[in-house]
Amino acid sequence: MNPLIDHHMHTYFSLDADPNAMMEAYLVEVKKRGVTGVMFTDHVDFDNPSVIFENPIDYDRYYAIIQELRKNESLFIGMGVEIGYQPHIESIMKSLLNRYPFDFVICSIHFGDRLDFYNGDFFKHKTQDETYARYFQLVLDAVQSYDEYDVFGHLDYIIRYGQFETKMYDFDRYQPIIDQILRVIVDKKKGIELNTSGLRYGLGVTHPRLEVLKRYKALGGTIITLGSDAHRVSDYYQHFDLAISLLKEAGFDQITIFKNRKPSWVNI
Ligand SMILES: [Zn+2]
Ligand SMILES: [Zn+2]
Repeated sequence: MNPLIDHHMHTYFSLDADPNAMMEAYLVEVKKRGVTGVMFTDHVDFDNPSVIFENPIDYDRYYAIIQELRKNESLFIGMGVEIGYQPHIESIMKSLLNRYPFDFVICSIHFGDRLDFYNGDFFKHKTQDETYARYFQLVLDAVQSYDEYDVFGHLDYIIRYGQFETKMYDFDRYQPIIDQILRVIVDKKKGIELNTSGLRYGLGVTHPRLEVLKRYKALGGTIITLGSDAHRVSDYYQHFDLAISLLKEAGFDQITIFKNRKPSWVNI
């Protein structure tokens, strides 16, 4: 059996995912690949500035569905979550995470200064450098202030949005703040994920890109999960071969899987 569980998958419970992305449909793919289990990580973004996405998951129901699947399946069925960080909602985030027995928590930043990246509001009246610098500062503030998570999601995600000619960032320019972020994550025994969705979105790179993976390794990082950020079943497990070769190039020979919020490592 293949122990490399995709640790970033959205089902129809996430409003930006394919309504046909049923948990059972993912399980069919998991079995085809001989993977030992799944980790569902649907979105929770409290105080979402885009009202169209304001529809929090009913976790009583969600957890009941997970428990039902666990009864019928011999695979590991992980209940994870991708929780959106904003500084003013830390206590609301913590109370959800304390209420349900999550296996895994991805902390992601999808909004900055209460402005959405997705609809472009965050980028208005700013230069590209101002938006990227502000984004990395928000990530640094988040990891310094907040500890209720296991891995930080798609660390250089800001390049997905913004109508710039070249979305790629000059790594050397942002390395000082990226190093600061990674040091805090390593010091607090948290992790990052290698998210392959950038390849699907035509960015030509994973989140984060190889240079960041190398710095994470050099700074002592050991906790790293692998995720497709699937929003439809066909996205599941996409570009994992390339991701594994990038991890090896960065010096990793293991990736992390989670259960009950506890990490363990498997060889790649
Ligand atoms: Zn995300
Ligand atoms: Zn996601």
